[in-house]
Amino acid sequence: MSHEEFPTDRPAVVTCGLPYANGDLHVGHLRTYVGGDVYARALETLGQETAFVSGSDMHGTPVAVNADKEGVSPEEFALEWHETYKETFPQFDIAFDNYGHTHDETNTETTKEIVRELAAAGHIYEKEIMVAYDPIEDQHLPDRYVEGTCPYCGETARGDECDEGCQRHLEPGEIEDPVSSITGNPAEYHERTHKFFEVSEFEEYLTEFLDRLEGTSNAQNQPREWIESGLQDWCITRDLDWGIDYPEDADGDDPNDADGDEDDDADDLVLYVWVDAPIEYISSTKQYTERVGSDAFDWEQPWKEGGEIVHVIGRDIIQHHAIFWPAMLNGAGYVEPRAIMASGFVTLGGKGFSTSRNRAVWADEYLDEGFHPDLLRYYLATNGGFQQDVDFSWEKFRDRVNTELVGTLGNFVYRSLLFAARNYGGAPDATVSDEVDDRIAEAVDDFAAAINDYSIRKAGNAAIDLAAFGNEYIQRNEPWKLTDDDPERAEQVIYDCVQLSKALAVLFQPVAPDTCDRLWSQLGEAGDVADTTVAVAREAPQGAFDEPDELFEKIEAERVEELNEKLEQRVEAATDDEADEDDDADDTEDTMSDDTTDADTDAQAADLEPLTDERISFEDFQDLDLRVGEIIDAEGVEDADKLAKLQVDIGHEQRQLVAGIKQLHDLNELPGTRVIIVANLEKAELFGVESNGMLLAAGEEADLLTTHADAPIGTRIQ
Ligand SMILES: [Zn+2]
Repeated sequence: MSHEEFPTDRPAVVTCGLPYANGDLHVGHLRTYVGGDVYARALETLGQETAFVSGSDMHGTPVAVNADKEGVSPEEFALEWHETYKETFPQFDIAFDNYGHTHDETNTETTKEIVRELAAAGHIYEKEIMVAYDPIEDQHLPDRYVEGTCPYCGETARGDECDEGCQRHLEPGEIEDPVSSITGNPAEYHERTHKFFEVSEFEEYLTEFLDRLEGTSNAQNQPREWIESGLQDWCITRDLDWGIDYPEDADGDDPNDADGDEDDDADDLVLYVWVDAPIEYISSTKQYTERVGSDAFDWEQPWKEGGEIVHVIGRDIIQHHAIFWPAMLNGAGYVEPRAIMASGFVTLGGKGFSTSRNRAVWADEYLDEGFHPDLLRYYLATNGGFQQDVDFSWEKFRDRVNTELVGTLGNFVYRSLLFAARNYGGAPDATVSDEVDDRIAEAVDDFAAAINDYSIRKAGNAAIDLAAFGNEYIQRNEPWKLTDDDPERAEQVIYDCVQLSKALAVLFQPVAPDTCDRLWSQLGEAGDVADTTVAVAREAPQGAFDEPDELFEKIEAERVEELNEKLEQRVEAATDDEADEDDDADDTEDTMSDDTTDADTDAQAADLEPLTDERISFEDFQDLDLRVGEIIDAEGVEDADKLAKLQVDIGHEQRQLVAGIKQLHDLNELPGTRVIIVANLEKAELFGVESNGMLLAAGEEADLLTTHADAPIGTRIQ
């Protein structure tokens, strides 16, 4: 079954993985939140009714452990971080319609209600299990209170997750050689009665659900493997004071546990943090409805009747969102997610950010350096596919800002509006040309296709490509030469450029809301560009406006040097720390995509692109038709600096390919060279020349791939 394309008549809810109320936000954390915000704004631009919600994750042992250390109550500790996040997100224009937290009344009540519904449907049972216990302190040691050895991979594991080894979720009692992470005392295992959610019963449902699920492919593929290896039921209670109490009136299906005969441990138990955390998505939507009224947005529609639920998360919490959560929703009679977008991590010099070791670029630090939030939003949203890891460096940041934002988009808009304001006091008297109207329609289609493909990168590129077209258009038509000879033609060209600028404001708003708001004012348009939909991109500009200011400022090379120096010192200090001491417990952030990719990389690897975590199936690989070919002829493509046109013999036929190797190889030397080509890549046209396939080459220098024995021309690579 496939879903209807966006926009649909049903309301959408876009959610972001809850930040764990446990420490400062860094640029790496922001990727998911920027991604969610861009996606939610883009859905609205498409005309989809959308609520964008999240909240702070207050519960669980990392909060309790750290509050302990600081000598404050977990509630006080978590609320302080919650307030910080609530202030930080708007500074990056991450505009949640509601931002709650998991400890508030709405979430407490909603969680208990859902647990009661699951129990009433017979999905919860009791079981006696062994849990870790510190006999000296007389303290139970749930999750992060205990450390030991992972039974699956033998790495040191903490609490409920093998975050330095195999990344598995660990059930209570699974860790071997347990010690208390608070006191270091060796732990014992004690028998306790706990509640279990029978995830294993949902195997068939989940298998079908994953076939329907949209979003990034990692959110479907990984869970399929987990299902194949057998689903375990899930212990949903903990021996802990901090959390939401297991509802005593939940009716389990244990026939021996008659009401009134309370001989079990249920009254001391709180729910595992991963039960109430995703329920905050529902609770936060409820609070939004409470605030704006059910006429404006009715939470029950998306969650109970049928809506478009899109979860934006870090890839470290796929299991919770693609297995446990849909099983809970299904078991309690709620609507399942339509899509899960699971982002890769952000690395620094190829290594993970580390909160506790200060190996990070902090969110407030970025703003203190005086950079506009839209620059980082653009960088995080478009620098690589959403599920790929993105390496942050100030050089790359500067490069993207200066080339694309300043050089392409900013430059086009500024020169167009300046010319229009000086010569005509705004948009000249004309109507849009067919060429420009068609090109804008194409950009709108690209934008819509990108959002339906869950690619915020492509959505951002739709605008940048349109701006590149604008630059080419104004350059080609040279309106500055026409004002005297052909004033009508000059008016036409400039009108077209104003129209393009208007379309850019609409289409780029999800990525750069504040900048596009300024552009909207510069264009003399009324209202808020964030309230417009794609149709407005082709509506006539309003007319009068003054000379514009530039939208973006260039980042100077010296600035990057300065920032790099700061960062390098910090990374060095962090690396020294790392050598000295083992990891400490405050480095744990369950719900955010953080530094779980802290694995050591050697120094050499720092310049390499991070490896893609996502595996493809053998079938996917087989879809690629790779062939041995021989270059017959090579010549440069006219007017293109980098492109060469190649004739390649691939056995069955001769193919024409365009490749970006003009300056990197001596074209006269190429005929006779054995190469590898992708034969079944869709055809493309570059500078008016058709390219029918792709030449494979490595790195910036385009080192050509070849064969080393005598495989005949046309041989398939397998
Ligand atoms: Zn492990």
